[in-house]
Formats: sequence, C-alpha cells, structure tokens
Amino acid sequence: MSLTLTDITLTYPDGDARLTALDRVSLDVPKGSVTAVLGPSGSGKSSLLAVAATLIAPDSGTVTVDGTSTTGLSRRELAALRRDRIGIVFQQPNLLPSLTAVEQVQVMAGIDGRGARTARKRAAELLDAVGLTAQADRRPHQLSGGQRQRVNIARALMNDPTVLLVDEPTSALDHERGAAVVDLIARLTRRRATATVLVTHDRTHLSAADRIAEVRDGRLSPARICHTGG
Ligand code: ADP
Ligand code: MG
Repeated sequence: MSLTLTDITLTYPDGDARLTALDRVSLDVPKGSVTAVLGPSGSGKSSLLAVAATLIAPDSGTVTVDGTSTTGLSRRELAALRRDRIGIVFQQPNLLPSLTAVEQVQVMAGIDGRGARTARKRAAELLDAVGLTAQADRRPHQLSGGQRQRVNIARALMNDPTVLLVDEPTSALDHERGAAVVDLIARLTRRRATATVLVTHDRTHLSAADRIAEVRDGRLSPARICHTGG
C-alpha cells in the first residue's frame, strides 16, 4: 500500500477541553487509484489530509508512506519525506504573483545551477500534461481560476510523488471547470501511479474515484470500491 493511515486520532485544544477532529481513522490508498473522501464542512477532511501529509502529528495512530512509517521521524526527515514523496494540492492555489506558470512548477525542485535546465524541462512537460503549454509564460493574474488550479496540480507533481493529496480543488471553480480538474487528477493518478486522496463535498466528483469513504464528525467509513472508476 502506498499510503496507509492506521487508527489515527487527532484532537485540537478547545477551551479547557479537546475537540476530537479524527476518531480512530484508518485508510489504505493503493498506487494508481483515487480515493474520494466526502463529508460536510467541519467533519475533519482537511485534518485528515494534514495528518496524511505529515504536517500535523496525530495524538495516536500511524501514517505509512511507501512502506515507511512516519512515527518517530525528525522534523528534517519529515520535510524530506514530504518533498520527495508527497504532492499536496490545497484548496487555494497560492501561486507566487511574480512567477510565470512554468517557474511556479520549476521552483518546486529546489535546484542548484546544474539542475536548473532539467527542472525547466520537467516543469514544461508537466504543464503540457495539465494542458497549459500555451500559458507557460503567463503570471497568475493572466490565468483563469481553472488554469491556476492546473498549475497547482503540476507543481504538486514536480518531484514525482508517491502520494497525491488534494483538498477540495474545485471550490473556487464553476461546475464544468471543476469536473475537468477532477478528471485531470484521475488521469494523472493513473498515468503517474500516485496514491491519491481527493477531498470533496461535491458528489458529482465521485465518478472519477476508485474508492469512496465518508467522514462524519471525525469518523471515517470503510472505503467502498467503485466499479465505474477508470
Ligand atoms: P473540514 O475540512 O471537513 O471542513 P476540518 O478538518 O477543517 O474539517 O475541521 C474539523 C474540526 O476541527 C472542525 O470542528 C474544526 O473547527 C476543527 N479544527 C480544525 N482545525 C483546527 C485548529 N487548528 N484548531 C482547533 N480546531 C480546529
Ligand atoms: Mg477543509
């Protein structure tokens, strides 16, 4: 399994008490498949992604990425694991205003002088994969919302991650553009064999999923396998 969450509990401080955001959550995400995580606002979806991304340590439970348990890793080791194995697509693209589309992707490589050409070439290939070759030299304000989200996806794929974590990628898009972004994520998942978690509250996105799990008040249902995916 490329991404495994086992018995994850996560609480946040809440006045004098603790709020349980994730309650003994377990999830397996195989390579080359999309697991959709559905749930209403406040149910724990973003918390689940933050734990899977190793950005927040859970109170208990383990996260395993590509066979490596993240328990007990130092901050530096976690940062390296995130850089090399995990691609994250947040709700808002947060692109850097002064960089062109190809540069936004290229900077993810964290490269020295020698690697710059290779990184540039790879960034251009990824932009092509998300359908933005013609927009490679545009800055964020010259791109539509859907195009910005595509840049965001290309950026997450720059280091060839094993795991791709996507948080409500279509919340700022209209229905048609949203569906195109979700289809793109499904295609890239298959082509690049990532273990993808797609958080959404939109049921129309489920046609792109191989598995569906629902979260409610921090509890995750067992993932149901869909036979329509692919
Ligand atoms: P979703 O993404 O499904 O909307 P979240 O994971 O963001 O849900 O939030 C789950 C619960 O945890 C909510 O009740 C939310 O208010 C709470 N929560 C989220 N982040 C924090 C935080 N940093 N501190 C305290 N409570 C939080
Ligand atoms: Mg959220």
